[in-house]
Amino acid sequence: MQISFHKIQRCSECGEQGQFVKNITVKHIVKKDISKDLNDEDFHLCRNPSCIVGYYNTDTNVIVNKDDFKRPIWIKEGSDPVIACYCGNIKEDDVIKAVIETDLTELQPIMIYLHGSIGDKCQVTNPTGHCCTAFFKETIAKGLTIKETLKEYGDLKIDSKEVPKEVYDKLKELEKAKEAKLKTI
Ligand SMILES: [Zn+2]
Repeated sequence: MQISFHKIQRCSECGEQGQFVKNITVKHIVKKDISKDLNDEDFHLCRNPSCIVGYYNTDTNVIVNKDDFKRPIWIKEGSDPVIACYCGNIKEDDVIKAVIETDLTELQPIMIYLHGSIGDKCQVTNPTGHCCTAFFKETIAKGLTIKETLKEYGDLKIDSKEVPKEVYDKLKELEKAKEAKLKTI
């Protein structure tokens, strides 16, 4: 097993410990006119919701402000829209709406329902370079809580939508592909 260590780097603005992010991700995530001036250094993402810093590297003293990102960082205060999945460009509101209006409660079917496929471009679309799973699941949970509350008070009508058959077909396809892949290993 290969273990790599990254030097601890605290955000130069707020002092919080950020999350290590590879250069390839940073170059895809920030606006073009910022990206062209970056060298090949790696960065840290400042995850403090109220801090204006997006990426920072305290060795090279390079900072990319959150406003210099192509799309808002979901974790920052006032992020508009709040994006739940960067690969599929799925907004938090879309996920909540899907949970309320259908019977879907799992990540994969909801992604297919909203986007037609499962995102796999996390390294170059998500500000962390990793999959959105954790936040997406949190958003589903939030949607379910809202749905329960709406049901409880019963004064808001929920239009129950049927999930298109294609969503289930696509899921079956994915399951089959996964099984086939496991067999070849
Ligand atoms: Zn910060």
